Amino acid sequence: MEPSPLELPADTVQRIAAALQCHPTDERVALYLDEKDELKHFRDYFYIPKMKDLPPIDLSLVNKDENAIYFLGNSLGLQPKMVKTYLEEELDKWAKMGAYGHDVGKRPWITGDECIVGLMEDIVGANEKEIALMNALTVNLHLLLLSFFKPTPKRHKILLEAKAFPSDHYAIESQLQLHGLNVEKSMRIIKPREGEEILRMEDILEVIEKEGDSIAVILFSGVHFYSGQLLDMPAITKAGQAKGCFVGFDLAHAVGNVELHLHDWGVDFACWCSYKYLNSGAGGLAGAFVHEKHTHTIRPAKLEPIN
Ligand SMILES: *Cc1c(COP(=O)(O)O)cnc(C)c1O
Repeated sequence: MEPSPLELPADTVQRIAAALQCHPTDERVALYLDEKDELKHFRDYFYIPKMKDLPPIDLSLVNKDENAIYFLGNSLGLQPKMVKTYLEEELDKWAKMGAYGHDVGKRPWITGDECIVGLMEDIVGANEKEIALMNALTVNLHLLLLSFFKPTPKRHKILLEAKAFPSDHYAIESQLQLHGLNVEKSMRIIKPREGEEILRMEDILEVIEKEGDSIAVILFSGVHFYSGQLLDMPAITKAGQAKGCFVGFDLAHAVGNVELHLHDWGVDFACWCSYKYLNSGAGGLAGAFVHEKHTHTIRPAKLEPIN
């Protein structure tokens, strides 16, 4: 019952259910998948909350000592067991050496971000030089848009999906206002069809084809936070760039969750946070990606002085 790499997850489940002669939602399918999971030992690297420690629930319905089934990695990933050890090492160093901790020890603070940037290369599919670990996601999105959103009277829109994460929506609104643009006219939101939950690629490509000349920046989520839809990032990038748009992605729900090849796909820019599927903890450094092709060309937009 080995899966082929090209098989869709739903087909894998169907195939295993058929082989086990049960329904796809039968517990046996889940247990089979657990048993075959090559990554299952990683579970032991994390603390899993117990039902009894969670906010009020009807405890008569559950075994209090049972582990919770944690479906909130999309909000905050679980704590890796080594976090406390690492933090204590740094707190110790701070207590003992103060400012000397900036440049000594296993993790000199001054290069704290540079020490770990290499770990991100394979996760987002980019060169070390294309990645910066800094700030929080929304701050990085603002910084990236300052450089990539350079509206002209003809090309003034930002294309995004409906129900984008609220802070992304507001960041885009702010960027449009910063350039004195009318949000109604310049924020081009694409919605799923009536009665449908997810966007159709053909509809996205049609908007790009028809309105691409007036779109400065295309900014989609790699994986939509609300619907879970994985967008075809390489196809959107290709279509947008063919129309002269810059194409960027918010990877909050994609990073650490799905395979990414930002460099090879030619994506112009991207940003992500590290506390969801990367389990860095609240306040963990966020990421920004700028494709190598822009290293020497992309600069923040010049804003017209306000009279
Ligand atoms: C979680 C999330 C954010 C959060 O951004 P912060 O700057 O960390 O608050 C932004 N955008 C999306 C799509 C998210 O899922």
